[in-house]
Amino acid sequence: MYEVTVESGFSSGHYLRNYRGKCENPHGHNYKVRVTLVGRELDAAGLLLDFKLLKQVMRPVIDRIDHQMLNDLEPFTEINPSAENLARYFYDETNVQLREMTSGRVCVKDCTIWETDTTTATYYE
Ligand SMILES: [Zn+2]
Repeated sequence: MYEVTVESGFSSGHYLRNYRGKCENPHGHNYKVRVTLVGRELDAAGLLLDFKLLKQVMRPVIDRIDHQMLNDLEPFTEINPSAENLARYFYDETNVQLREMTSGRVCVKDCTIWETDTTTATYYE
């Protein structure tokens, strides 16, 4: 199997509902996101997927939430914008597109969100 990984970042506000602690009040994080792709076959150029293409897929997903209050945006008006749910959000948004682009040759293996330098949450299926 081959894997390809791209990291990026965004800065957003959030607060956690039904939670007692620091994160119940509105505040911001400089988040980092890492998306890892997996696949068994390379393309004609010997790539699983051009890093540039993965960045292009991640860009609009990031732009939608960068410098926003996450709680005001779907699906975080309903579910909490926790690092766990953000990881799943990136997984779902990027996986659908990548599978389409590559006719199922490449899919997302996992997504990790850094809420701080030392705390991460990962989603995979
Ligand atoms: Zn927080």
